[in-house]
Amino acid sequence: MKEVRCPRCGKNVSSFGTKTINDRKYLFAYHGNRPCYLGPYDSYVHAERLWGIGLSNVSDADLEDMLMEIFSRLLHKVRRAEGEKKEKMVKELNEMLKQMHKKLQDV
Ligand SMILES: [Zn+2]
Repeated sequence: MKEVRCPRCGKNVSSFGTKTINDRKYLFAYHGNRPCYLGPYDSYVHAERLWGIGLSNVSDADLEDMLMEIFSRLLHKVRRAEGEKKEKMVKELNEMLKQMHKKLQDV
C-alpha cells in the first residue's frame, strides 16, 4: 500500500475515519495512539486535492458516504443554478451518471 503522510504532523497514516459531533462530520487521520483532526468532512474533497491525500485508506462505507455527499452537494448547486448554466450542469451530471451506470453493469 502506498504510504500516506498526515497533512498535519507528517506521520504515516494507517487509516482515515470520520466522527459525527452534533450532526456534523469531521475527518480524522489515525496513526499510532493519537489521531489528527483534519477538518470538516465536507471540505475533504477539497483537502484531498490540496494535500494530495490518497483515498486508498478510506473505508468502503466512507467512500460511499463521500460519493453521496458529493452528489447531494452537486444537486444543491444544480438547484440553485439558472438558465444555460443549469442546463449545462444537468447535462454533465446526466452524462456522468450514465457512465457510472455503464461501469457498474460491467462489474
Ligand atoms: Zn497527524
